[in-house]
Amino acid sequence: MNEQDVKKEIDRLTDQLNDYAHHYYVLDKPKVSDAEYDQLLSELVTLEEKHPNLKRDDSPSERVGGEPLDHFKKVQHAIPMLSLSNAFNEQDLRDFHRRAEQGLGHAPTYSCELKIDGLAVTLKYENGRFIQGATRGDGTIGEDITSNLKTIASIPLRLKEDVTIEVRGEAFMPKRSFERLNEAKEKNGEQLFANPRNAAAGSLRQLDPKIAAKRNLDIFIYSIGQIEGKEIESHHEALDYVASLGFKTNDQHQHCETIDEVVEYCEGWLDKRADLPYEIDGIVIKVDSLRDQEQLGFTAKSPRWATAFKFPAEEVVTSLLDIELSVGRTGVVTPTAILEPVSVAGTTVKRASLHNEDLIREKDLKLGDKVTIKKAGDIIPEVVNVLTEQRKGDERDFSMPTQCPECGSELVRIEGEVALRCVNPKCPAQIREGLIHFVSRNAMNIDGLGERVITQLFVHELVEDVADLYKLKRDELLQLERMGEKSVDNLLNAIEASKENSLEKLLFGLGIRFVGAKAAKTLAQHFETIDELKVANREQLEAIDEIGEKMADAIVTYFEKPQVAELIGELKGLGVNTTYKGPKPGAPEENDSYFSGKTVVLTGTMEEMSRGEAKAEIEALGGKVTGSVSAKTDLLIAGEKAGSKLKKAEELEIEIWDEGRLLSELKK
Ligand code: NAD
Repeated sequence: MNEQDVKKEIDRLTDQLNDYAHHYYVLDKPKVSDAEYDQLLSELVTLEEKHPNLKRDDSPSERVGGEPLDHFKKVQHAIPMLSLSNAFNEQDLRDFHRRAEQGLGHAPTYSCELKIDGLAVTLKYENGRFIQGATRGDGTIGEDITSNLKTIASIPLRLKEDVTIEVRGEAFMPKRSFERLNEAKEKNGEQLFANPRNAAAGSLRQLDPKIAAKRNLDIFIYSIGQIEGKEIESHHEALDYVASLGFKTNDQHQHCETIDEVVEYCEGWLDKRADLPYEIDGIVIKVDSLRDQEQLGFTAKSPRWATAFKFPAEEVVTSLLDIELSVGRTGVVTPTAILEPVSVAGTTVKRASLHNEDLIREKDLKLGDKVTIKKAGDIIPEVVNVLTEQRKGDERDFSMPTQCPECGSELVRIEGEVALRCVNPKCPAQIREGLIHFVSRNAMNIDGLGERVITQLFVHELVEDVADLYKLKRDELLQLERMGEKSVDNLLNAIEASKENSLEKLLFGLGIRFVGAKAAKTLAQHFETIDELKVANREQLEAIDEIGEKMADAIVTYFEKPQVAELIGELKGLGVNTTYKGPKPGAPEENDSYFSGKTVVLTGTMEEMSRGEAKAEIEALGGKVTGSVSAKTDLLIAGEKAGSKLKKAEELEIEIWDEGRLLSELKK
């Protein structure tokens, strides 16, 4: 980029960020997520550092908060209310410590506290009486919101000592109150608050204090701004003192002697924060000695003696490089976003399902777009939205093809469905996916026949349908890549053993539309043989609990096809069992799965399967997979580099398995 282009980019980013900051701080209605704002700000800071001459006076990198609203009386802060520098990882924390140590000539100790996600306020008391409360505003001038603050029950109007003091703290809305407020707003058709922070800020900046009074706000005091006639030496002493005056302080703060203890405190809260009744967006680390604080001083925007450790973003911005299409076993064509690899909540994400054409259209996705992504339920990546304002003009439209990307036949959109489908029964992709389904764990469960081997068999034209699997010959298999004598023998044994499976496994494996593993079991129990099921009519099927009209219809249509009759005859001829071998309906369920009824948490990196796959398998076996460890957790599966969840599970003495143990249990 030449200098002129850089200037243009700096101007564009400055204007855009100032507009976002105005919506966030002044109007309490953010236009974009914090992750988007932070990313643009870091792009601007990088450019400003390389070209300091082009930096504008009104750059958001130099400013604190937003300008105060006109309809409140303005309050000049005697001591500015600043922002905090950020630390995003352990290295940043250690760098902060190194700088503090260098500045002081000795290693300081720290006070660590939760970074409550609300808005900063200052409260002034004269001779123990509350006289004025204000917002941070732009750091120098705030808004007088005394009447609104008086509605917060935890703000004492009279202190336990007649001191003249100014304290600072974070006013916030507890999670429950936020949910209730938005539920009520939804019922009334009003616009919802984006998050508890904006709800708290919006409530305190109302002209009518009756509104603030109804909002159940709360406050934690975290520092003293000014005090008359009292010597205090450390931050933790200040917190104890304000608590003794009757203020509410947060009791999770901790005095840390070393930076290692600080790191441990921060990591510990990554998981625990979900259990708090209010939102936090990080940890604030403050040099504890007030003399040390004074020596380190301030930059224009933030103190050098404190920093905010920000939790890893659960939503991040990346680029949409391409959209790939795949054809599933039922012919549905699914688009997948190919993304510039990016780390989200601790793992690298490169792809995300886009589900169908409607979703691409709804989100107005173009190739080359900047998009925000998050991991839904912390596991499956999802494209949240497109940053249309960041388009540069070279993004390309995407349209779904009209022909199957695998076999070239015309795609159809069946009425009432969002999916595009290839209806060619000979489509190789569908056959291949059907075979993969047939051998999968909940179906015929043939060990050693994964996606890779099936694809090889298919490419070498050794299999065309599921019956062909039972005709495979030893010498044919030996010719395949990476297939030694031992694996071929194991594979043939597994194929042979699958012939003995009970009927429900075969039924599920055949891939009849709408028939999942559970319905397959119900059908097998009810009809006992495939020949009985084959001749059942719609009424007989619908008379069974759990079998609806759609499924009954799909079953009848399936068995009417002559090629299905042929296939079943062939399977029988090859020795595949077609009768039910399990307990009768109503008989007590065998509790054959270890996972049934258990609450399981997955953490760390898995090698053999993704966390999403593990979750699906555990759930299929009756387990419940949740995101955080608590006393209700029965089992933790810890992959590589498991962190705080593992620690917590150890503390709570919860059963812990490694990936190997999980895999062997799943194979049972
Ligand atoms: P900050 O919120 O990151 O840190 C400073 C603030 O931390 C203080 O003012 C105080 O209110 C708060 N705090 C909470 N607990 C504290 C404690 N125990 N001790 C001391 N302070 C404590 O800084 P900031 O400059 O106010 O805001 C930046 C944040 O605002 C970023 O996360 C950014 O993403 C977000 N933002 C978002 C948008 C948007 O459009 N979405 C726009 C502007 C800013």
